[in-house]
Amino acid sequence: MKSVATRNSNRTASPMRILLIWTLVSGLLFGLAEFGEPLDDIFRIARNKMREHNASGQVVVVGIDNLAQQEVGEWPWDADRYARMIDNLRAAGANRIFFDFPIKGLKNDPGSPRLVEALKDHPGKVHLVAAFSEAAATGKRIPLIPPPETRRFSHLVSTNVWINGYNIVWSGRYANRVGDLVVPSVPSVISGISGGVEEEFPIDYSIAMGSLPYISASEILRGDAVVSRVRGHDIVIGVNSNGIGNRYSVPGHGPSSSVFVTALAAETLLAGAPGTYGWWVPFLLALAVTAMMMRVSRTPLVLGMLVLLPTCALGLPFLLESAGHYTAIMPATVLMLGSMGHLAWRSHRQRFDERGMVNEVSGHPNLNALRAQGADTQDGLIAARIHNYAEAATALPVAAEKELVEQIILRLSLGNGGCKVYHGDEGIFMWLVPGTSINNVGDQLAGLSAIFRSPANVSGRLIDLGVAFGVDADPGRSIQSRMSSALLACQEAQNAGEHWRVYDPTKLEATEWRVTMLGELDAAIDNGEVWVAFQPKLDLLSGEICGAEALVRWTHPEKGPINPEEFITAAERHDRIEKLTEHVLNRAVQVAASLNRDGRKFDMAVNLSPRLIGHANLKPMVVQTLRRHGLPAERLILEITETAAMSSADAAMQELRDLRSIGLQLSIDDYGTGFSTLDYLKRCPATELKIDRSFVRMLVSSRSDRIMVNSTIELAHSLGEEVVAEGVEDNETLQLLGQMGCDKAQGYLIGRPMPFEALVEYLADHTAAQAA
Ligand code: C2E
Ligand code: CA
Ligand code: CA
Repeated sequence: MKSVATRNSNRTASPMRILLIWTLVSGLLFGLAEFGEPLDDIFRIARNKMREHNASGQVVVVGIDNLAQQEVGEWPWDADRYARMIDNLRAAGANRIFFDFPIKGLKNDPGSPRLVEALKDHPGKVHLVAAFSEAAATGKRIPLIPPPETRRFSHLVSTNVWINGYNIVWSGRYANRVGDLVVPSVPSVISGISGGVEEEFPIDYSIAMGSLPYISASEILRGDAVVSRVRGHDIVIGVNSNGIGNRYSVPGHGPSSSVFVTALAAETLLAGAPGTYGWWVPFLLALAVTAMMMRVSRTPLVLGMLVLLPTCALGLPFLLESAGHYTAIMPATVLMLGSMGHLAWRSHRQRFDERGMVNEVSGHPNLNALRAQGADTQDGLIAARIHNYAEAATALPVAAEKELVEQIILRLSLGNGGCKVYHGDEGIFMWLVPGTSINNVGDQLAGLSAIFRSPANVSGRLIDLGVAFGVDADPGRSIQSRMSSALLACQEAQNAGEHWRVYDPTKLEATEWRVTMLGELDAAIDNGEVWVAFQPKLDLLSGEICGAEALVRWTHPEKGPINPEEFITAAERHDRIEKLTEHVLNRAVQVAASLNRDGRKFDMAVNLSPRLIGHANLKPMVVQTLRRHGLPAERLILEITETAAMSSADAAMQELRDLRSIGLQLSIDDYGTGFSTLDYLKRCPATELKIDRSFVRMLVSSRSDRIMVNSTIELAHSLGEEVVAEGVEDNETLQLLGQMGCDKAQGYLIGRPMPFEALVEYLADHTAAQAA
């Protein structure tokens, strides 16, 4: 059972946990495996578009483009072309000149001396590229370093960029290692900002590529007037033609010649060294925020997250990048998205749960809530059923039903020690009592029954509430099954006219057992296994034993004494009660006759099954039995339970009057457990009211029980009937009953049910004690 309950609670918690773990893992994956990069790129491109601005103009691109190639010939060119470009650019006032590509094959180039000349004429102003070339056959990287004679008057630069897995260039480098040399990159030299070898910096693509000043190499070679465009500027010479030279995929631009990327990278550094932060910085931040969010579950906070997320995904990086700070936010975003989904789901679920967990009428937790909260409980479970609830509710204006329920719950809470009451439909209420106090549940329910005896006042109307309680004290089963059991016990209590019953798990077995035993009952009556015990009744005024109640007993040869209530109920259900009653009546009347013979007055009470009322054989049977033993009819009392008498129709009432007409007495048994109205009592031909032992038990301690007994005594006397209190177990109660004017008492204090022989002895002893 335990394991089932645990599984249950896991089942509710685990999707949440799984989602959380998923969120964390996918966030980490996005970060570590760079799954998030394409998404990050998309967002960054969008941001770049938003912050698009022009280049400073400091760096001028000179492109070896299609026009230049038309005029000069296909690239690569001889070195003397570059020499001419250097001379012309310098003549126009250009500052430094950077090549974006390595000039290959200078050793065998006939134009090499011309280039060396040009370099010599502008010492330190020209920057030649040192790079790697990949050997086509082996794939080995061979350093490509300009020959020493060119390096004497120029500087070396490198142009390597960082190409990511999607062939996209996001970052440039400060410096590269070429062979044994550490060579600064073009952007680093132009900006004067240096960094580590192969250290990357993000290229700011929000600088519009089209805003870079551009001059075709053909113009320079022709010697066109470009002074105004180059004076004082740094020049980057590169290839700008489809199909030749290095081309990169530039985010937001598509394939672009590397010279533009180099120029943009230089512009980036010119604006200041960008700061970069690993993806884990925003990730940890998001983790902290998420952890905080998880502790609270209010809907406004979920909405807050909805606002926070786009802000974080777009706004924050936008602001950061504007200030030259770069980071990847996708892992953090994934984490936030996931936890937001988690939050949204949780709050939805919570609202859903709350909706399904309260009673629509009262707003109190309903039985679903009990199912959820009592899944694992070891507590006792009590059900209360107001059996005239529907009647009461329909009699009230719609709005007053809630008031009725509130009154019921108030009473239940008063009597149950403040335990939380769950409100089901149609007058059903349940609560849990802590495991230890299940033993005191009898007191609790007796108290509650008393509380419910006075009518409720709802909207100015007095409403009598009939309530029965059912207890399930067997925590070894599912809450659902326990709830059913408690309700079943409720129903049984109500049917039997009792205040409450405890569900008996052995009952199912017992039902089967009963059917088998029933077959033995007839034989048991015949062979003397079934016998009659007599419980003495005390006259409180005279102090004498005035009679006895006949109580049937079955002593089974193997099973021992069998609970009379059990086999009587079975006999009633299976139409075997007539023979049993006849047997008891015969024996009781026989005993009574013998006790009345020596001049004393001794009443004999026999319990009459409600099934027999209205039975055609009943009256003849009673008359014959009395006659057989010669007992005057007025010495016989027939006890019928209050509920049985109550539910009797008018015909049955006539039947009772008919029986009375023989002269015998009628007693209403278990009085107080049913719901007799005054009108009913007036019409009922009873001669005696027998107060149920549940009211007598707590008479000394319970004020409401005293009130009940007192008023019953007054009522009975006003109707000319006598009152018997049953279940008297102690002297204090007996004294109290005497003071209240009760006529007779029965109970263990006076005497237990006993065999006839013991009764005779008991009577002798009692008479002797009286005399003494
Ligand atoms: P009842 O008519 O209310 O009978 C009184 C029951 O209370 C008896 O239980 C008796 O033993 C018990 N009792 C008496 N004094 C005390 C006391 O001081 N304290 C407590 N706690 N209990 C006390 P029993 O004998 O188990 O009978 C149970 C019920 O079975 C009876 O309740 C009655 O309804 C039914 N019953 C017994 N005999 C017959 C019978 O011959 N015919 C029919 N139809 N029903 C019978
Ligand atoms: Ca009785
Ligand atoms: Ca009784």
